[in-house]
Amino acid sequence: MTKLCVPIFVESVEQAHRDAMLSAEAGADLVEYRIDLFDPQSDPGLVARSPLPCIVTCRPTNEGGHSELESAQRLEILANQLQAGASYADIELATYQSDQKGVPAGGRLIVSSHDFKGRPDRLYNILSELNSNPAEVSKIVWMARSIRDNLEAFEILQTRQKPTIALCMGEAGLISRVLAKKFGAFLTFASLRDESATAPGQVTIHDMKRLYRWDALNPKSKVFGVVACPVKHSMSPAIHNAAFDATGFDGVYLPMLVQPEYEAFKAFMESFLAFEPLDLTGLSITIPHKENALRYLQEKGAQIEPLAETIGAVNTIIIDRSSGDVKLSGRNTDYAAILDAITDQLKIHREDLANYRVAVIGAGGTGRTAVAALAAYGATVVVYNRTRDRADALAGEFNGKTGKVVSAPLEKLCDSCCRIYLNTTSIGMHPNIDESPFGNRAPKLSADTVVFDAVYNPIQTKLLRQAKEAGAQTIGGVEMFIRQAAAQFLAFTGIPAPTDVMHNVIVKRLTA
Ligand code: NAP
Repeated sequence: MTKLCVPIFVESVEQAHRDAMLSAEAGADLVEYRIDLFDPQSDPGLVARSPLPCIVTCRPTNEGGHSELESAQRLEILANQLQAGASYADIELATYQSDQKGVPAGGRLIVSSHDFKGRPDRLYNILSELNSNPAEVSKIVWMARSIRDNLEAFEILQTRQKPTIALCMGEAGLISRVLAKKFGAFLTFASLRDESATAPGQVTIHDMKRLYRWDALNPKSKVFGVVACPVKHSMSPAIHNAAFDATGFDGVYLPMLVQPEYEAFKAFMESFLAFEPLDLTGLSITIPHKENALRYLQEKGAQIEPLAETIGAVNTIIIDRSSGDVKLSGRNTDYAAILDAITDQLKIHREDLANYRVAVIGAGGTGRTAVAALAAYGATVVVYNRTRDRADALAGEFNGKTGKVVSAPLEKLCDSCCRIYLNTTSIGMHPNIDESPFGNRAPKLSADTVVFDAVYNPIQTKLLRQAKEAGAQTIGGVEMFIRQAAAQFLAFTGIPAPTDVMHNVIVKRLTA
């Protein structure tokens, strides 16, 4: 079973003991004491007082550490710690090769290689050198050049000749840290706190356990993810993983950093789909990849929901291998989230939208989704946008397809007379929470009017407050976010989404 190891940079035995106790409480299986700048002779008892089995490491500066000691001195210190009862000592391959006489006798060695610049050219030579020495565990770590490097780490784990650690550093390498358990690594590292990470891209033990479902992960777990750039602040991993927990679905959902260009997206898809053992089953697609996803699926001749093609954006990819081949399909759950939030609020069917006049504020990606969806069901849509040309172009594209679509200057919004107002701009979004598309003068609103703000941070925007004060009905961006995610969850798993759980997760994050 893959162990969860918390690295602790040792300053004193007292501090290391405290952090090791906290690591044990957080669920770590072992700790790694980094003694690069610590002298165990001047402050004895580090290993003896350890509440968990431990690795000791004294990393030199040329392998990303801080120790300036000669390798013979470092090896002597590590040998003493092994004698004191440490479970393992970690020695760099270069040190092992240059100073074999000083290497502590007996097993309990991890021999390691690190490359902080990228994938080493000699990756497979290094691997065979690691495997051919008598150490109990091989460790190879490099900085991910792209998310595709993780696949090589998984292959190394799959073909391991002895217990192995294979990890990619950096944000793009996050999936190798979590999926180490799926592929049977000897261990993975997780930091006690954000600031105590000893390598780029290390996640905290709290996130590893709670957010990425460490305890539930197993070799059969299905893999999902959100493909974006940047991806760090996405809330999708939190809500989908919480939904897996709540429904008992055997899956894990990860942030997947893919560079914006189509070629990068295509290379990601091709390599990840080809690597069957990953069990990649579903992807959420967001900025800037929704158009890339559509283009890729079109090139592959995949099944694509017609309205997703009309909108020109796919936000969900389903990967089905049940027939033996890879079958891809693409959807857009954003448009359904917009339509259903409105029709549920008004207690009408989508076809009834033909009787409604809707103001769509914004002509970006979400504005386009809203206009296409509302127009497809016959609504009369007025597009208001800061850049008038974009509003004109959007209206021109969809006018007359089913409903009527016209554009109007954003300054005229307060004079408009619509039953539904939908803000798809970022006006009012954190940190500009005192702004509203209505400015300080709302149009004529009544109890029949619905005001819908796609902005979800803050939960209560100024626009929603203005609408409530005027007695109008409101729909917030959180509802849209949960509806699109819930539709993805159903498409991914075949299980209705636990929307209450998703709602609580997102509200907790937004109010934290
Ligand atoms: P986008 O493609 O970049 O479009 C941004 C739109 O906002 C454009 O129409 C832009 O007008 C307008 N805009 C930006 N700043 C403005 C300002 N200061 N004054 C007036 N107009 C301004 O972005 P998007 O992906 O559609 O996202 C738009 C908003 O929807 C964001 O707040 C996002 O968080 C939210 N959203 C929510 C959900 C959800 O599930 N709740 C889903 C998707 C998006 P110009 O054309 O003049 O630049």
